[in-house]
Amino acid sequence: MTLIDGKQTAAEIRGELSLRAAAFEERNGRKIGLGVVLIGNDPASEVYVRNKVRACEEVGISSHVLRLPAEISQEEAERAVEALAGDHSVHGVLVQLPLPRHLDERKILAKIPVEKDVDGFSEQNMGLLALHREGTVSCTPRGIMELLKRYHVETRGKHAVVVGRSNIVGRPMALRLLNADATVTVCHSKTQNLKEICAGADILVVAIGRAKYITADMVKEGAVVIDVGMNRDENGKLCGDVDFENVAEKVSMISPVPGGVGPMTIAMLLSNTVDAAERTAV
Ligand code: NAP
Repeated sequence: MTLIDGKQTAAEIRGELSLRAAAFEERNGRKIGLGVVLIGNDPASEVYVRNKVRACEEVGISSHVLRLPAEISQEEAERAVEALAGDHSVHGVLVQLPLPRHLDERKILAKIPVEKDVDGFSEQNMGLLALHREGTVSCTPRGIMELLKRYHVETRGKHAVVVGRSNIVGRPMALRLLNADATVTVCHSKTQNLKEICAGADILVVAIGRAKYITADMVKEGAVVIDVGMNRDENGKLCGDVDFENVAEKVSMISPVPGGVGPMTIAMLLSNTVDAAERTAV
């Protein structure tokens, strides 16, 4: 069994991105910039934003964090995102989700121009993905495709099963796999025979948010398993959606939690930002 090491792969990617960021600075006389909008003070969002800022620093991208109060009005929030996105030193913009409940996420995300939408959550980028055209793909699915590529996992003609259909992971993941010529089945909470479907997968990607839900009897011998889940087990320890210990004995490759998909998500945010800067630079 091969362990798919997202931590190591992400470090390699950050190394590659540092060179591209330095070359950009050399050519343009300024750094690549990422604008991050943080509304309110959700503690988990604070941690995610801090990690993103740190990762930017590591590769030589400057980050501009715009902190807005939780009680901000819809109009003010939209104006603030628009203003940040209009700043020429900012090449990519992301709005940290979730937003306070009174705000309309869709309208706020729509204020990010498609070429600066480094999270790939805009309707236009999702539409481009669905049409198999070039656009920015959201970070987690892109990170998983990068892992599959770097671990030489063939997708063409393989049966890929994606468990979960969220807009940020499952749905774009299924489209990416389809675009890579896999035969794709998407499962969700209303799926019947989940066990049988998963057991038929050559490549199984699980993004449901339920600790150790996928057990060894649900997985095919020799399959490649990608675990996106981030949960706490009964002892408060971080774990995935897959029962790693038992499943690992049966499969050919598996990504662990932590150290699998998580580090790749941030690396792909940096990669999308560098791509955006290189595309827009004059
Ligand atoms: P989400 O928006 O809550 O979506 C969960 C999906 O799983 C839904 O489509 C849901 O089906 C499906 N589901 C739930 N229970 C199921 C079951 N018993 N059987 C089959 N399908 C089931 O979650 P998400 O944002 O996609 O995140 C999923 C997990 O990945 C979470 O643990 C999250 O923390 C983690 N995550 C990790 C990263 C990373 O970088 N490592 C990034 C993003 C998310 P319905 O649509 O029918 O409700």
